Amino acid sequence: MRSTEAVAYYFDHAAEALGLSANLRKLLLTPERSIKVEVSIPLDDGQIGNFVGYRVQHDSSRGPFKGGLRYHHDVDTDEVAALASLMTWKTAVVDVPYGGGKGGIQCDPKALSRNELERLTRKFVQRIHDFIGPKIDIPAPDMGTDGQVMAWIANEYAKFHGFEPGVVTGKPVDLHGIVGREEATGRGVARMVHEVYKRENKSPVGATVAVQGFGNVGSAAARFLAEMGAKVVAVSDVTGGLYDEKGLNLAEIAAHVKARKPLATFGQGKLIDNEELLTLPVDILVPAALGDVIHEEVAKKIKAPLIVEGANNPTFPDADRILHERGILVVPDILANAGGVIVSYFEWVQNLQNFRWTFDQVVREQDSKMSQAFEHVHSVAKSTNVSMRFAAFRVAIERVARATELGGY
Ligand code: NAD
Repeated sequence: MRSTEAVAYYFDHAAEALGLSANLRKLLLTPERSIKVEVSIPLDDGQIGNFVGYRVQHDSSRGPFKGGLRYHHDVDTDEVAALASLMTWKTAVVDVPYGGGKGGIQCDPKALSRNELERLTRKFVQRIHDFIGPKIDIPAPDMGTDGQVMAWIANEYAKFHGFEPGVVTGKPVDLHGIVGREEATGRGVARMVHEVYKRENKSPVGATVAVQGFGNVGSAAARFLAEMGAKVVAVSDVTGGLYDEKGLNLAEIAAHVKARKPLATFGQGKLIDNEELLTLPVDILVPAALGDVIHEEVAKKIKAPLIVEGANNPTFPDADRILHERGILVVPDILANAGGVIVSYFEWVQNLQNFRWTFDQVVREQDSKMSQAFEHVHSVAKSTNVSMRFAAFRVAIERVARATELGGY
């Protein structure tokens, strides 16, 4: 099942439970605008590079569209549309005043020089600048894009509309970005563990953790969980994983990965593959790499009683059902990995006010927003006797439906 179908499945389940009319369901599922543009640029060798860019603006009933911009060869309208709708539900579940959007350019960013990437980005902005803006649609980094790409977007946008750093988030801290954004998603994952353990009267000290993916989200989640006293016994990247029951040396592993060396060559613990990592006997499992990794067979073998989804869509719906039946608590992606969009929201607020927040303020506000969202979703899950994922979709869809009805059609 592709992510498009998985999102539609959860939507349908929640819409049914909420008793939404067929017309309202259709309205909530249909993107408001879908943009497809040609983005041709001169390449360094004098040839013309032909690319296609996309931006899907799913729903704006709760605020401007918000969502990442990815540079990847798999980008297409369907995938971007599914991810745009996921952003609508994610921003609603953590109650930030946005709708959902997503975009991208079909390309292989690693095959382009820095100058080509800059030309590509600027040309894309020339094509879509009238459809984005701090009050319209606010892109952010995603796969294949980073703070530098956001800086180029803000600069190009300013040529048409004047100084508006709030047109994008995830900018470098030295160019109207916000402190704490880079590690925000991983920090939020750890916060979810804190909330679960608090309710179960358990201490995270000594709890064992396996983290799949040691990139932005996985490495930060591992670090924050270790700071809470947990013992990270397994991590992995695309080259494979490491498992050491005594606990891994995260700082040295981070330095190894930063030096662009494969994790599997680090030399501590036992080498394992990515599927083995998911079924280790640990207390907490954090999938933080790709989508679609927990399928039915894996779900039957998972031993961790708690899964916190750092990645988007890591669990197939059939596997999710098995996990729920087995009593394994899953904190779903739209809640667990919302730390990034929450701090993006703070960056946007900071830009609109031309006022800089301190690091302590960012962390305090992020923790507070994530804890409130957890509390609400957890109580809905309990009172309606459904999984936290169904509860999260229910909370989100109810908020968007209410805003849509209040605003009128
Ligand atoms: P990243 O590129 O920084 O890191 C990805 C990690 O996954 C790397 O360690 C990579 O080696 C590993 N990986 C890649 N292919 C793999 C495979 N086949 N098997 C195992 N590991 C593999 O990406 P990221 O920003 O950390 O994002 C990770 C996930 O979190 C993605 O699903 C992304 O959509 C989601 N996410 C990220 C953010 C954010 O703020 N970065 C926010 C929300 C959701």
